[in-house]
Amino acid sequence: MKLHLFNTETRELEEVRPHHGDTIRMYTCGPTIYNFAHIGNFRTYVFEDLLRRTIRFFGFKLEQAMNLTDVDDKTIRGAIQNKISLKEFTEPFKIAFFEDLKTLHIQPVEYYPAATDYIPQMIEMIEELLKKGIAYRTKDGSIYYSIRKFPTYGKLSHLCIDDLKINASGENAADEYEKDNISDFTLWKAYDPNRDGNIFWESPFGKGRPGWHIECSAMSMSLLGETIDIHCGGVDNMFPHHENEIAQSEGYSGKRFVYQWVHVEHLLVDHKKMSKSLGNFYTLRDLLNQGFTGTEVRYLLLSTHYRTQLNFSLPSLLAARASLKRIGDFVIRLRSIEGESTKHIHVFDRIQKAEKEFKEALSQDINISEALAVLFDLIRDIHTLCDEKAVGIREARAILELLTHWDQVLAVLPLHPEEEIAPDLTEKLRKREGARKAKNFLLSDQLRDEILQRGYLIEDTPQGARLKRKS
Ligand code: AMP
Ligand code: ZN
Repeated sequence: MKLHLFNTETRELEEVRPHHGDTIRMYTCGPTIYNFAHIGNFRTYVFEDLLRRTIRFFGFKLEQAMNLTDVDDKTIRGAIQNKISLKEFTEPFKIAFFEDLKTLHIQPVEYYPAATDYIPQMIEMIEELLKKGIAYRTKDGSIYYSIRKFPTYGKLSHLCIDDLKINASGENAADEYEKDNISDFTLWKAYDPNRDGNIFWESPFGKGRPGWHIECSAMSMSLLGETIDIHCGGVDNMFPHHENEIAQSEGYSGKRFVYQWVHVEHLLVDHKKMSKSLGNFYTLRDLLNQGFTGTEVRYLLLSTHYRTQLNFSLPSLLAARASLKRIGDFVIRLRSIEGESTKHIHVFDRIQKAEKEFKEALSQDINISEALAVLFDLIRDIHTLCDEKAVGIREARAILELLTHWDQVLAVLPLHPEEEIAPDLTEKLRKREGARKAKNFLLSDQLRDEILQRGYLIEDTPQGARLKRKS
C-alpha cells in the first residue's frame, strides 16, 4: 500500500517516496522562540508529528529538521526590552518548547537547527545570489532579493507575478506581507543601532543580520541537501515565506528545492485564526492548568483532517476526553479477559479488516477521521463480541497488539489507563499552587497529602509543579 499526500504546489495527491537514496528528507518550519507557543502552533506541530510517524509506519527511513528561529525582529526586541542577550532571552522559550513537545507526545526529530548557528551558511548563500545578480544592495547596506529575476516566483501559491504590482524599491519591506502588497524581500538587514542594540553579525556586506526567509533555506540545504522530499508548515507560511524559500534556494543552487509541499490549516477560535496578535490564544500550559492532559490536547488537535480548519473550544476538549475514556474503558475490558473464547466466531478476520482499513485511511492524505472511525467501529464490534463471549485471551491480546501498533502513529491511546493522571488530581495540584501563592499553607499541605495518598509526588520545576508517580 502506498502513502499519498496532497501537494500544495500541484494540487494533487502524490505518492510519498524518497527521490534520492532510501531516506525521505523533510523540513518543517519551527517556532520563533520569543514567547510560549500557542496551541494553534501546536496544531501544525502535532500534524507534522503525525506525518512523521505515518511515514515511518509505512516503512520509510526519515530525516527531519525543524528550525528554531532565534533571531528576528521579535526576539531582538524582546532581548533589548529585557536588557539581556539574545541567547538569554530565547533560551527559556526554547526549553519550554521542548517540554511542550514532550507533553504532546511529539517525537524528537533528527535536527533542531537554531538560526544563529547557521549565519555563515546564510551569508554564503547571499553572496552567491549577489554574484548571480538575483540580489541587490540598497543605500543603507541591506540586501534584497529581486523577485523579477526569478521567473517562476509565485508557483507555489499560484500567483501570476505579471499581473501584480511589485514593490521593487527595497524599501519598507517587512518579513511578512500580503499577496496584494508583493515586494522584494530582505536577505540581509543592515545594522541599525537604534533598533538592534548590540545585536549584529559581521559579513562581507557589513554589519547586520539575516532576514527570516533565508534562515530556513540555509538550514534546510545545509542539513538535508539542496533538494528535499517534503517541506511542511502552516498555511500562513505558504506566502510569502515558502515562496521566498523556493526563490532563494533555487536561485542559489539552480536545482529543484522541494518535491512535495504540505500545508496545515489553521486552528481557529470563534472562526478567527488563533494568533498572538489577536490575543485569542491558549498556550498548552493554560490548558494543563485547567486540568486537561497533553494527551487530550493532542487528541483534539490531530482528530480533524489537517487540510480542514479546526475551531477550538473547551467543549471540544471535553469531547476529546470522552473519546479517550471510551478507548480506555475498552482497553480495561480487554485486559480483564481471561480464558479461551467459547465460540467460534471470526474475531481475527475482524481484526485484520480493521488493520487494513486503518492503513488505507492513512494512505489517502492521512485521512485521520476515517482512521479514527475504523478504531471506534472496531471498539463497538469487539464489545458486542465480548458480550457474546467470542473474545478470549488470545483475541484480546491480538487487539491490544493492534492498538499498540496504531499508537505508533496516533500516540494518544490510553493503553495503560492506570498510568494516566486523573483530572481531579491535576485539579488538586492546581488548587495547591493557588493555596501556596496565597500563603494558605494549611490548605496546601492538606492537598499535598491527598495527592500523596493517591500515589503521586509533587515535583517543583521552574515552570511550575508537576505530578510524578511514586516509584
Ligand atoms: P510562528 O511562530 O508564528 O512562525 O508559527 C509557527 C508555526 O505555527 C507556523 O508553521 C505557522 O504556520 C503555525 N501556526 C501559527 N498559527 C497557527 C494556527 N492558528 N493554526 C495552525 N497553525 C498555526
Ligand atoms: Zn521556514
